[in-house]
Amino acid sequence: MLARIDLRGNALPGVRELTGLLPRAATDIDSVLATVRPLCEDVRVRGAQAVREITARLDGVDAEDFAVPQEALDRALAECDPTLRAALEEAISRVQRVHADQRRTDVTTQVVRGGTVTERWLPVRRVGLYVPGGLAPLLSSVVMNVVPAQIAGVESIAVASPPQRDHGGLPDPGVLAACALLGVTEVYAVGGAQAIAVFGYGAGSCEPVDMVTGPGNVYVTAAKRLLRGMIGIDSEAGPTEVAILADDTADPAHVAADLISQAEHDPLAGAVLVTTSEELADAVLALVPGQVAATKHSDRITTALDGTQSGVVLVDDLEDGLRVVDAYAAEHLEIQTRNPREIADRVRNAGAIFVGAWSPVSLGDYAAGSNHVLPTGGCARHQSGLSVQSFLRGIHVVEYDEQALAEVAPHIDALAGAEDLPAHAAAVRIRQTR
Ligand code: NAD
Repeated sequence: MLARIDLRGNALPGVRELTGLLPRAATDIDSVLATVRPLCEDVRVRGAQAVREITARLDGVDAEDFAVPQEALDRALAECDPTLRAALEEAISRVQRVHADQRRTDVTTQVVRGGTVTERWLPVRRVGLYVPGGLAPLLSSVVMNVVPAQIAGVESIAVASPPQRDHGGLPDPGVLAACALLGVTEVYAVGGAQAIAVFGYGAGSCEPVDMVTGPGNVYVTAAKRLLRGMIGIDSEAGPTEVAILADDTADPAHVAADLISQAEHDPLAGAVLVTTSEELADAVLALVPGQVAATKHSDRITTALDGTQSGVVLVDDLEDGLRVVDAYAAEHLEIQTRNPREIADRVRNAGAIFVGAWSPVSLGDYAAGSNHVLPTGGCARHQSGLSVQSFLRGIHVVEYDEQALAEVAPHIDALAGAEDLPAHAAAVRIRQTR
């Protein structure tokens, strides 16, 4: 069960040492690369036949074609439970509202008279969106991937999700219904690293994409890392994690429930409570076993809450608490303290921040309107979660007239001279000698 780490009484160590003291799953992407590299190479070389064999081996489904027919999408929507359909529609509407506000507009800067630079935002042409479906069919991830891509104006959208044996080898019907609701017609029943390879290299009827986004397990993340460069990726959105910064005002039952809710995603998930209150720490540690025992996926959760990857950290004050959560750089960070907004304003590193007692992480997983595809494993120090911006490229369009170029020519001459690149200077000077 959860580790108990007491950092009180002494000055906190530096960030690197602190990070080493905090529990986190050892998701060594490099070691998984040894499995994933040959698998991706096989898809590159043998295409659809390799996908068929890998899917049979890893997912227990043998299908001639991994493209999902349109009638399966239509059927999934027609047969979708009305309560689920209403929930999906509400989630879509909230995520659309938030992401519509992220749209960028082109900006033209008048640098000098006769000289402008415009930043023009263009969407990526074709994207492959991954929707996990190993341990749980994450239909919410359809919404989180597709909505920002659509709002960015991506012209061609393909979705892949693992085939399910008990659904005739198709992805989960909820995933298909969500795709149909959003008007996505190109869907593939393929999961894991092989799905990322299908997107990257193209296979069967799937044309190669320019970019892949979406969360997934370590195999998915390793494949994204491997193909990065050849295609674009979003963040490395691997096994999920939550940190909760709390003081004595937090409700221990809520804190325990929130730690458990993220641990439910994956045996490799991480859940860390950082608190100034020994009473809260003890109450949470006492409550967790009972709550875990009462929930459906207790095996997976028990593994995730193991002391090497999850725990309770005691600190002297909220200043130290902030240093600890910044060092951890959680995918999800809850603030359950007095004046939580003030504390949240001071956080530097987190994928998403959930402020106060009424903003639990499950709200963000489904229906806050925020995106749930977020950087994990400390990547929140340098990466953002998925957004409209993820699907856009900013192109600088440079336009100077003769006079404006003439004015800056001596500076170009000097800089090119300093770099020993005289042909650069000559290309400007030749225009001045008419
Ligand atoms: P998944 O769809 O990512 O992976 C399932 C696939 O993995 C299967 O189709 C299978 O082909 C492949 N696979 C399984 N075992 C393998 C092996 N030994 N070798 C090679 N391939 C193998 O589904 P999942 O496993 O449930 O993982 C989903 C993950 O997504 C969880 O870790 C969850 O925490 C994470 N997630 C992250 C975010 C985020 O934003 N960071 C959001 C939602 C979910």
